[in-house]
Amino acid sequence: LSDRLSGIFDKLSKRGALSESDVNAALREVRRALIEADVALDVVRSFTEQVKEKAVGVEVIKSVSPAQMVVKLVHDQLVEMLGSEGQVIDLNTPAPVPIMMVGLQGSGKTTSTAKIALRLQTRDKKKVLMASLDTRRPAAQEQLRVLGEQNGIETLPIVEGEGPTQIANRAMNAGRLGGFDVVMLDTAGRIHIDEPLMVEMAEVRKVANPHEILLVADSLTGQDAVNVAKSFDERVGITGIVLTRVDGDGRGGAALSMRAVTGKPIKLLGVGEKADALEEFHPERVAGRILGMGDIVSLVEKAAETIDAEKAALAAEKLRKGKFDLEDLKEQLGQMAKLGGMSGIMGLMPGVGKMKKQMAAANLDDSIVNKQVAIINSMTRQERRNPALLKASRKKRIAAGAGVQVAEVNKLLKMHRQMADMMKKMGKAKGGLGGLFGGG
Ligand code: GDP
Ligand code: MG
Repeated sequence: LSDRLSGIFDKLSKRGALSESDVNAALREVRRALIEADVALDVVRSFTEQVKEKAVGVEVIKSVSPAQMVVKLVHDQLVEMLGSEGQVIDLNTPAPVPIMMVGLQGSGKTTSTAKIALRLQTRDKKKVLMASLDTRRPAAQEQLRVLGEQNGIETLPIVEGEGPTQIANRAMNAGRLGGFDVVMLDTAGRIHIDEPLMVEMAEVRKVANPHEILLVADSLTGQDAVNVAKSFDERVGITGIVLTRVDGDGRGGAALSMRAVTGKPIKLLGVGEKADALEEFHPERVAGRILGMGDIVSLVEKAAETIDAEKAALAAEKLRKGKFDLEDLKEQLGQMAKLGGMSGIMGLMPGVGKMKKQMAAANLDDSIVNKQVAIINSMTRQERRNPALLKASRKKRIAAGAGVQVAEVNKLLKMHRQMADMMKKMGKAKGGLGGLFGGG
């Protein structure tokens, strides 16, 4: 992906902000990458729209290419859409907590049931009972019983001839009587979504009143992922997603599709056939996989960090020396505007209540900042470096150059003096300000 993007961007400007046509050209390639990763088309469309909105006008960091910049933005948006990590299974309700597993046939429900039960039992020290409600596939109940035996997890004894809701009822009773913390209900699937399956799931739900309903989905599911997730969520109401076969070589576009249509968190990943092959969800990893890129993102992140660090170090150095000339003030004014204006910044700093009031009184908004920058621009280099040079005649020249009154020039110089004083004090007090003004 990044190679193709670089190709496009070689023809474009290397500096400044990303233009709409820059972003459009890059997003064409991103769209292709997402489709290759099996993200559903609707989701691809809405995703690229969102990225475009955010990307146009973004400054390109000098040490990276615009192509890398767009990839970084795409990646960040992907991570945001995939949702936060560390989503745990919620057991915060009186025991026994019913957890219902739903999904298509072969998605990995039975395997994931055993994996989650094992994890809850060994890591969280919960007493878990598993029950198979799959009366459709001949050996399904036996499959779960064997998994329980192999991993030391109790399973509900199999009674021939019972239907799913009867088993669910019996499981919950056994859970209560046996003092279990959690009852895991493994259900039957179908090859495709169909009405009888949805009816069955809704009935089981009514009987067991599950605290968690986890949709188990194969990460290799392609365009169908949206329908599967939508149907289960609308008809049964899921609380989270377990993505299986993440150990395979699919690129996991289903994760984005399912998350996008349901808004429900991806809670766990199945990464193998064994009972301990279960992992927490890390959006960055899945995002990187969907984009099929190496470490371009960390490259961009490092570049951004380096630049910030360099700026911060420079600012800190100047503070330490008590040097803060009008050149620096100009630089700071630009950064302040970015950080939400002077009063916003002042609010972040301790012990500057008085300054803050003055700033507020001066009504330091963007237009004023622009005017101040214009005044500084009208000065010579020497004047900026050494404001003491600024006597009446020079001030008059500068005011005329910037199209302002001399009083405005005086106001700016006064502000500069106050800031220089304050910075000298705070510079001695170590830390704080250097980082604050260096960033952004
Ligand atoms: P169910 O029909 O939804 O209950 O699916 P199963 O749990 O019976 O799983 C179907 C097959 O997929 C079995 O052979 C499992 O071993 C396999 N399987 C399940 N989860 C994973 C996984 O995360 N990775 C791999 N490689 N195989 C899995
Ligand atoms: Mg099964």
